[in-house]
Amino acid sequence: MTNGRVVIVGGGLAAATAAETLREQGYEGDVMIVGSERHLPYLRPPLTKEYLADPGKEAASTYVHPWEWYTEHGIHVLTGTLAVELDLGDDEVTLDDRSSVRFDRALIATGAKPRRLTVPGADAAGVFHVRTLDDSEELRDALAAGDRRVVVIGTGWIGMETAATARGYGNEVTVVGRGAVPLAGAIGPELGTVYRQLHRDKGVVFRLHREVRELTVSDGQVTGVATDEEGEVIPADVVIVGLGAVPNAEIAEDAGLAVDSGVLTDASLATGHPKVFAAGDVANPVHPVLGRRLRSEHWANAVEGGKTAARAILGQEVTFDAVPYFYSDQYDVGMEYAGYPVLAADTQPVFRGDVEAREFIAFWVSGGRLVAGMNVNVWDVNEEIQQIIRSGRPVDPARLADASVPLSDT
Ligand SMILES: Cc1cc2nc3c(=O)[nH]c(=O)nc-3n(C[C@H](O)[C@H](O)[C@H](O)COP(=O)(O)OP(=O)(O)OC[C@H]3O[C@@H](n4cnc5c(N)ncnc54)[C@H](O)[C@@H]3O)c2cc1C
Repeated sequence: MTNGRVVIVGGGLAAATAAETLREQGYEGDVMIVGSERHLPYLRPPLTKEYLADPGKEAASTYVHPWEWYTEHGIHVLTGTLAVELDLGDDEVTLDDRSSVRFDRALIATGAKPRRLTVPGADAAGVFHVRTLDDSEELRDALAAGDRRVVVIGTGWIGMETAATARGYGNEVTVVGRGAVPLAGAIGPELGTVYRQLHRDKGVVFRLHREVRELTVSDGQVTGVATDEEGEVIPADVVIVGLGAVPNAEIAEDAGLAVDSGVLTDASLATGHPKVFAAGDVANPVHPVLGRRLRSEHWANAVEGGKTAARAILGQEVTFDAVPYFYSDQYDVGMEYAGYPVLAADTQPVFRGDVEAREFIAFWVSGGRLVAGMNVNVWDVNEEIQQIIRSGRPVDPARLADASVPLSDT
């Protein structure tokens, strides 16, 4: 396809990257991004980290591109506009002002929304879910004085990163979680233990093996978190909820597209409809290496997925087979993870470096092959880790653990 109109439903990172790739690939037709938020497409990772940590930071510092860039590239961005219907009979997207836009190809890049806390009291003032720039800004206002009692519910990335940033302001922070260690679902119990110790060393208190029963409220303001532990109410001025995310797949489902934990696509990010594609957090594609579906909620997935979907839209032969990658920064500890958590789940990690000092690489080996690697405060190695994973070559765990052996000889 060289002309016509591509309408991108959703206005996040996957949308911006897809639009950019369409132009890079020489597409000269119309490109329109329909985004429900009042902002241009922006990066979400800073919302729990540097943006949340610095009241001086402007919203525009997180934007993927400034306004002028979209104008220069002839990309029409509608902000503050919700797409309410995808009509696959007439090839139209209906907007919330009831106007409609015709398309030749549509990309669904609607992302995800936070799973809400539903216990009594969850709608009180002082309770925050963090997904948008506006959420982060409101939370920043609540944390910045540094004298709050903050309770974080949930031990995933959002919970642990906001806990770190809240502590950074000097607040008292308690983390409540169901499991024995934080982040175990993402990086396994061994690495979760490293992060639990990191947070403890920084003064965070954990209340683990807990179920939240209710939030106590006075005059509409949250005052505490009651758990299933007999009589336990943890005092709170601020409650941060990090219970994971749910894909925004309703518009696709209503249009009759196949949806199951996201919009189902093949390995080129094409849905069952020849004119409709999906990318980013909302897409649930078949991963050609795993031979099964893999929905990812990470920055790199939105970037690589946006690129792949744009090329697929243009009729190019593409396969979305990037090794999943994500990163996190908490306090002075940065990490990058590449690989397949599902394949790493039943294996013990092998460590290279100093785990106590939080300067190491963890490797997960399955069937004699490297399936995942995570570098913690060790830099410029992740690309090589990805290459080893991609190559599928045999690796020797003893050599992986030996820091004197170059990674290329493991
Ligand atoms: C707080 C936070 C911190 C994160 N930190 C990291 C990190 O450190 N490392 C990492 O790898 N990943 C991180 N992620 C994940 C990463 O940001 C996401 O994977 C990425 O933003 C997904 O991009 P997306 O474009 O698919 O969706 P989104 O960024 O969610 O964008 C989708 C947009 O479409 C809009 N939309 C939805 N439905 C409609 C509709 N019908 N009409 C119009 N617009 C619609 C949504 O409101 C949203 O603005 C973080 C995510 C969050 C929320």
